[in-house]
Amino acid sequence: MADDGDFEKCWLETTGPLHLLQKAPVQENETELGYFDRLGSVYIPPECRTGQIKDLGAFPSNVIRHQDIRGVIHAHSTYSDGLHSVKKMAEESERLGYSYLGITDHSKIAVYADGMDEEKSQQQWAEIDHLNREKREFTILKGIECDILSDGSLDFDDHFRSGFQFVIASVHTNIKMDIDKATSRLITAIEHPQTNILGHPTGRLLLGRDGYPLHIDKVIDACAVNQVAIEINANPYRLDLDWKYIQLAVDKGVQLCINPDAHTKESITNIHFGVIIARKGWLPAESCLNTRNVDDFLAFCEK
Ligand SMILES: [Zn+2]
Ligand SMILES: [Zn+2]
Repeated sequence: MADDGDFEKCWLETTGPLHLLQKAPVQENETELGYFDRLGSVYIPPECRTGQIKDLGAFPSNVIRHQDIRGVIHAHSTYSDGLHSVKKMAEESERLGYSYLGITDHSKIAVYADGMDEEKSQQQWAEIDHLNREKREFTILKGIECDILSDGSLDFDDHFRSGFQFVIASVHTNIKMDIDKATSRLITAIEHPQTNILGHPTGRLLLGRDGYPLHIDKVIDACAVNQVAIEINANPYRLDLDWKYIQLAVDKGVQLCINPDAHTKESITNIHFGVIIARKGWLPAESCLNTRNVDDFLAFCEK
């Protein structure tokens, strides 16, 4: 056991990053702040001390914090497989301090998730218009989690789909494709002019199943070219995009979006896990789409 005098040293040595500590060992009685100071680096909090990152000088001064997130994007309601109404989801989002909610129920082909057809979607739009008229300081957006079909096309026809204010395109079916097929399927979906956010990009379920294999660099390049944001799905069983690829996306100028994929009002707080993992990947606040206010979020989606 370390005595009190060794606490700081022990703390640093057990919060990494190991490659840094091997190069620059902690000195006796050195404090956390003193250590980074000696290396000429800004203070890097423990959750950001990852072995992946080699250049301390690249640590962003404005690494994402939970309080930077302004909009709840990717939430389901009773219009598909969510447990709570649009109104309840909005009230909870507002109570938690957010200023807008992008409702994204499943699309028509997702029968396994009680996806919305055209008629149900139009009922939801009417309800959202009504709720938005009642409340001026909080906005509900008409989004959709649109299934990516096997050939990369999107569910619904283009004309109907354009009635939504933004589109999250996600794969939910036929996930056993080889790497080239899976990659070109996603790229086709990313190139669709109505796609705004790529949902849970690899489809992995932690402790459940691996994601489909992908040329992730090509997927990120396609998002950069087509102004499509990549979701960091904050459901703790997904955490997808994996944090290891965040820097690659940021370097290409791609926006990330930290989304709870909430199916209940309680799971809106999944955003917390997404923020932790985004901090691990050194995501700057300005590279996170839902740190924007609602008008700027929509401006991004209008392309
Ligand atoms: Zn999904
Ligand atoms: Zn979803």
